This record gives sequence, structure tokens and C-alpha cells, in this order.
Amino acid sequence: MQADLLLHPQWIVPVDAAERILTDHSMAVADGRILAILPTVEARAAVETAQALELPGHVLIPGLINAHTHSPMTLLRGLADDLPLMTWLNEHIWPAEQRWVDPELVRTGTRLAALEMLKSGTVCFNDMYFYAEVTAKAVAEAGMRAVAGMILVDFPTRFADSPNEYLRKGLELHDRYRDHALIRTAFAPHAPYSVSDRPFDRIRTLADEMDVQVHIHLHETHDEVVQSLREHGERPLARIERLGLLGPSLVAVHMTQLEDAEIEAMARANAHVVHCPESNLKLASGFCPTARLLDAGVNVALGTDGAASNNDLDMMGEIQTTALLGKGVAGSPSALPAYTALRMATLNGARALGIDQETGSLEIGKSADIVALDLRDPDTQPVYHPVSQIVYAAGRDQVKQVWVAGRQLIRDGEPTTLDSTAILEDAKAWGMRIAGEE
Ligand SMILES: [Zn+2]
Repeated sequence: MQADLLLHPQWIVPVDAAERILTDHSMAVADGRILAILPTVEARAAVETAQALELPGHVLIPGLINAHTHSPMTLLRGLADDLPLMTWLNEHIWPAEQRWVDPELVRTGTRLAALEMLKSGTVCFNDMYFYAEVTAKAVAEAGMRAVAGMILVDFPTRFADSPNEYLRKGLELHDRYRDHALIRTAFAPHAPYSVSDRPFDRIRTLADEMDVQVHIHLHETHDEVVQSLREHGERPLARIERLGLLGPSLVAVHMTQLEDAEIEAMARANAHVVHCPESNLKLASGFCPTARLLDAGVNVALGTDGAASNNDLDMMGEIQTTALLGKGVAGSPSALPAYTALRMATLNGARALGIDQETGSLEIGKSADIVALDLRDPDTQPVYHPVSQIVYAAGRDQVKQVWVAGRQLIRDGEPTTLDSTAILEDAKAWGMRIAGEE
């Protein structure tokens, strides 16, 4: 057997249906895909390879998928904290965005986000922001994956002045990246409270025709539900259903306010939920009933949300928070077991984004999107159960090697395609400009 790359870790956690944990197995990669997973003794004898890498004390996991973020908002990290969602948005974030967001900010912010995400093991993110064509280009240049959101809000911004213009720009983006190996697109109507029925109607028709996902903030807070009842006479999810958007292409972010019937409706529709526990905690938005959703059969993925409401893009941290919070909310320590939390951050993310044939688990034929974590640090010793260490003890510093489609993007903790020094200088310059006028 001929491979381009052969990895010899101590453990492999493939995140497959059988929830296996393989010890002393190796992984062969060819043409950017996983060619074989076999016992290391056999691999050493049978696989010819251009490059072999010894990874003692390391565990391989699938590349993490951040299923909801606003990557350029890294440049607004720490600008306004400790405020409720609508005050934070209306008085701080939206004014700052109106003043500052342009293609240059988006380019620098995306590159900073990509650097932070790759270094913490994230290989793909689902983005919602203005100038997504700039984000898509920066991500493709870095060799990472992303789903670029075709954003839409009712109100005008520097990016677009009407729902029609948002849509037109989104469709241009979709056409440009139609056949790209790393970049997908999704409709990204911001939220029920910022998008009216007409544009939702258009999006539903187009999403059906084009077969792309619809990524939206939904049931983020109690106030959102109350406002919808007042203005539309129905809860936001009921409105989304009435508009024909409750189906397998719905990627509903947050979902902290859910009645039993709504959980059942989400399950019946094969809709997806993206849980963003740290953002929900920081904004005191409420608690997504993750264990109940999973029990009902709903696919629940994980996201960090933007860096202005988290304030990091660290999926390793998000996995731990998910497991801990899920137990607390369910009132049961056996809710959200470690392997489930890891699956939410990998395979469930790929499912939500419609790319689970390509990525999300370490299985033969899938893209070689791989993270190697070094568990030899004091924080993760001794190792009885590698998944327990990954979820409850490891941090992003233990991410040492990252590959996307077989290409190594992080080597020994450092990026191979992104220039850290230049990115940090640009980010600092933006910080000084924004702070100077705030
Ligand atoms: Zn968000």
C-alpha cells in the first residue's frame, strides 16, 4: 500500500457509530483522504509512505467543526462585555460595525480567527458576517474549510442597503464558490427579529432550489420569544415553520427557549441545532436543553459564536463547557457523556453543515481532516481513557498538529500557511484605530 503520509499515534478516536477508541493503530493518508486505519505493526510492514510521523502519547481526533461563528468579530473581542444581548447589540456591537466594518476589517479579522481556530484544532467553521467573499478568500488561502454565510438583515449596512441587495451579493458568492473543495455557502438570515417575512420567503424558495442550508439565530433569548408573540402572534419557531423553513436544511443556533412540542417538531423535521454554551452563559441568554434534544433524536452541533460574545474561538473549551453544562441543565451526571460531547464538536457539526460525507469523523475515504493532541502534559496524565482527557482535562495548548485534506496547516503548534506576525500586527493596528474613536 502506497501512502503520502503515515501517522503513528498512541490512540485514534475516529468518532464513528461504534464509538471506538483504537490503541496502537496507524493512519495512512493518500491524495488528501484517509486511505487506511490499521494496527501499527501491520502499518509499519505494509505501508510505503513518502512521510511517516511518530506521535507517541498523542491521540488523533477528527478536525473540530465550529458550527456557528462570526469570524471577523475577533477584532471586536472585549469591546463591550457584561451586558444583555439587545443592549450589547443595539448600543455597542451594531454601532461599531456600522462605523468600522469594511473588507479590510473582515480580511484581518478572518485571518486572526483562522489562526486562533486552526491552533485550537478547528478545521471548519460556519460563518455569518458581512463581506463573506473576503472571508471565503482568506480561508481558502489558509487551506481551511468554511461555510460562508449569505447574510441577510432587513436594515441597511455598509455592505448592502436592502434585503434584495444582500441576496444578490449572497448569490454571487454562491456562484463563485460552487465547485470549491473547501468553501461552501449557506443562507444566513440573521434572526427572526431582524428579518421580515418577505425575505424569508425568497430564501426558502432559493434554499429549496439550490439545496443549501439556512443558518439562523433562533430562540436565543426569552425576550426574542416575547417580542415575536407581540409582533407576529406566534413564537419564532412557529413563524419559521409557517414560512416553510422548518426542515433538514434548518441550522438553528442557540435554541435556549424550547417547549416539548418544539423539540418534537425539530426532531420530526430533521432540523439541526447549534449549541453555543459559552455565548449563552456570557449573555445570560438561557440554557439549551441539549440532552433532551439529543434524546429526541435532534442533531446538535457546537459553536463558539463570535469572539465579541464568548470571547474566544476555542472549541476545546466549548466541548468541556458543553459536557459540564449539559449535565447541570439535565440534572444528571450521566447526561452528555464525553464521547457525545466530542461527537457534537465533530461529526454532528459536519451533519449540520451537510458535509458529513466529506469530514467530521476519521473513516476510510473521508477527507484527512485530522487533529493530533499531545496528552503527555501534566494536565492530562495519567491516561485511563483518552476521550475523558480530551473532554474534561485537555486544552487547546495540547493541539500540536492539524491537517486539512491531508495538508498540514499546524505543525508543532505553529501555522504553516498563515503569517502569525503579520496577522497580529494588523490586528493590533485595528484595535488601536477602534479604541481611539470609541
Ligand atoms: Zn451568533
